[in-house]
Amino acid sequence: MTISIICTNKDPKPWVDALKKLDPTLDVQIWPNERRKEDVEFVLCWNHPEGVLADYPNLQCICSMGAGIDHLSNDAFFPKDLPVVRLVDPLLAQSMFEYICAVVMFHFRELDVYKAQQGQSNWLQQPPKSIFQTTIGIMGLGNIGKYSASKFSDIGFNVIGWSRTKKSIKGVKSYTGEDQLEEFLSQASILICLLPLTNETRGILNLKNFNKLPQGAYLVNVARGEHLVDEDLIMALNEGQLRGACLDVFREEPLVKSHPFWNHSKILLTPHCASITDPISVAPQVVQNYRLMQDSKPLLNQVNLLRGY
Ligand code: NAP
Repeated sequence: MTISIICTNKDPKPWVDALKKLDPTLDVQIWPNERRKEDVEFVLCWNHPEGVLADYPNLQCICSMGAGIDHLSNDAFFPKDLPVVRLVDPLLAQSMFEYICAVVMFHFRELDVYKAQQGQSNWLQQPPKSIFQTTIGIMGLGNIGKYSASKFSDIGFNVIGWSRTKKSIKGVKSYTGEDQLEEFLSQASILICLLPLTNETRGILNLKNFNKLPQGAYLVNVARGEHLVDEDLIMALNEGQLRGACLDVFREEPLVKSHPFWNHSKILLTPHCASITDPISVAPQVVQNYRLMQDSKPLLNQVNLLRGY
């Protein structure tokens, strides 16, 4: 029985090492060089080539190598009858919070403004702002969103969150569904997207919704590039509806050199590095799921494919 690692833009070697370190008896192989496709029962996938999963006649479980599964469901030939699991890792949530916190504080303390002033040798204090009167709105209160929401509330920000179902998180006001989206957006002077990419959330960061935010709001998208309508962001920034944006994810990655985001003065962009999965940290749950699959027991972190996350 074989575990195969199928990825096109990640190095599989640290994953093999982490799994073998936990259990040296595991047979872990790397696509496309497995000895016998028939032996593969469990695959770890990240941006696999479309259709390749059909090559494994005895496949029993597909495990995403990250928190999201949109890279799997984009495959028109995806075997929809097989269970799909994803990685849920406290380290992933912590490292995402570190990134978002750095960005929020950079914006909130106007370090971007001071950096620009420095370029002109301009000694000018900006008016002070209160953390207690600044509202952060988090779209998506799942594994990562709820962690960041609590942490921002602990620091003193006023935190509101938007999700499909109602949440009870200390210090965080919960809004749900389409009905409450406008009320949620109207308060968020810093908007952070931590939604999964589904048919319902694709393109949700659009001009119509930007116009519902308080004027001069700041956007942080660390979820998926397809949540954002790129032209709408540029329009909202140029018209001053948004004061700035930080983007870590893009429709096409790497972002093409000619994309207008690269040189936009109000955009801070990073190369999908907000929170990178550590194979050593997640290997135990991968092995646990492999064993559960072998014993025909319920899997950990199984994705609801109908819901899309
Ligand atoms: P998750 O646990 O699946 O949580 C998703 C949240 O979104 C849930 O609260 C869910 O509501 C809510 N949601 C889903 N569909 C919705 C809808 N139509 N309307 C309102 N709310 C909706 O996701 P996660 O693990 O926290 O990951 C969040 C995002 O971060 C994903 O897009 C992931 O790919 C991305 N990510 C990015 C990086 C990076 O480095 N940039 C790293 C890791 C993850 P319910 O709770 O009510 O179901």
